[in-house]
Amino acid sequence: MEINVSQQLKASVGSIRNYEVNETIDTGSGSSMVQGKVRLMRTDRGILVKGILHTEVEVTCSRCLTLFSCPLGLNIEEEYFPATDVVSGTSLPLPEEPGCFTIDERHTLDLTEAIRQSALLAIPMKPLCREDCAGLCPGCGHNLNQGPCNCLPQERESHRSELSKLALASNLPVNEGKGTE
Ligand SMILES: [Zn+2]
Ligand SMILES: [Zn+2]
Repeated sequence: MEINVSQQLKASVGSIRNYEVNETIDTGSGSSMVQGKVRLMRTDRGILVKGILHTEVEVTCSRCLTLFSCPLGLNIEEEYFPATDVVSGTSLPLPEEPGCFTIDERHTLDLTEAIRQSALLAIPMKPLCREDCAGLCPGCGHNLNQGPCNCLPQERESHRSELSKLALASNLPVNEGKGTE
């Protein structure tokens, strides 16, 4: 999403403009509709963008492995630095912070990358399709959200403890105390 800020760059520090965001953006896990409002404020160095946006991304549930649509609230707060002086047209020195956001020589401020980064941060590490997702049966892999499977409860339990033993074993250091001869 691109905003031309040439007028605002000429305005005094503290001047504010509001924009509606209503864009399809590739958030890395497919295209998502992003909506909300941003407020752009002229600072002494550039333009500060603040806003809360909403989107939904397709993610895989960490328990039952089904794809579901996960709503995200994106908190945007980024300062953009002009690459070119809006009045004189001369190049401006940019801050040395890596990954800082810039306003290009056409005075275009592009929100896409800031939105994409904030969406990546907002996606939960272990997404759950719902709070009480029942997950998969460790015995047969059946999705228990769709009802019980035919495994006996003790069968399910023994599979579960085997699985946890395996998980424990894989956490142990592999070469310790052997294989030196
Ligand atoms: Zn799930
Ligand atoms: Zn089962």
